[in-house]
Amino acid sequence: MEYVYQDLSGRKLTKSDFTKYVEKKIAKTISEFKLIQDSDVIGVALSGGKDSLVLLYALAKHAKTHHFTLKAVAVDEGIKGYREKTLPKAKELCEKLGVELSIVSYKETFGKPLDDMIHKGMYPCSVCGSFRRKLLNKTARELSCSKLALGHNLDDEAQAILMNNYKHNIHLSARMGPITGSKEHDGFVRRIKPLYLLTEKEIMTYAFIHGLTDDFTECPYVDKSFRRDVQEQLNQLEEKHPGSKQGIVQSFLQVIPLLQKQFASTMPVVACEKCGEPC
Ligand code: SF4
Repeated sequence: MEYVYQDLSGRKLTKSDFTKYVEKKIAKTISEFKLIQDSDVIGVALSGGKDSLVLLYALAKHAKTHHFTLKAVAVDEGIKGYREKTLPKAKELCEKLGVELSIVSYKETFGKPLDDMIHKGMYPCSVCGSFRRKLLNKTARELSCSKLALGHNLDDEAQAILMNNYKHNIHLSARMGPITGSKEHDGFVRRIKPLYLLTEKEIMTYAFIHGLTDDFTECPYVDKSFRRDVQEQLNQLEEKHPGSKQGIVQSFLQVIPLLQKQFASTMPVVACEKCGEPC
């Protein structure tokens, strides 16, 4: 028998068992955190990287037995040598699944590709992240999406929790979790994270065995980010103490209602004076 994955308890899984294991985790995340309701129009943020390809593929499967619609949004930041590789994969999967894809770019929207926005001393991810959040939200709203699904996984969340702790930005953690964004502001499309309980390793394995991608190239700017340092630190910890990432995220889920209560009044959602987008 050929095994493709070994879980934390040491159980070995075949391709078919592993597929069920991953899809069951996604279904559990959707139902436990009430991420999707009947008639939702879900915009999937599709970069063409492994996480978003798995997200779209698994949601399309889930949609066969549930009542929601999928659309996809790809953002071309303008990163030379990177997006040229991932966007064709995004297009290919949308064609295969019959999902409408909208591609928007920094160049068309903001006048410049990301490569031309970065100057010495800048952290590319800080610039890129703000523009992408805005563009995804705006596009999802224009497409009448009721929610925006992101490919954030358990590793991403564990990293973000630690980053906020290290920088004493605990108020930012209050905005995290499997479903985020304000219900009160019309301009905000709430963001959901159906891959929240899956590790990066699980997603890579799923992407590979289902032929979604075998190219795990990362953005060239990621090495300059604080996240990269935290990611490496966490990976070393996980190697020595398996289950550490799970522990961080599960503990966070227990305290997030307290954080949201504590910081509710300090996070008003307002419209940007220049562009009118919620911020
Ligand atoms: Fe943008 Fe940073 Fe992500 Fe690259 S790694 S796409 S620069 S946020």
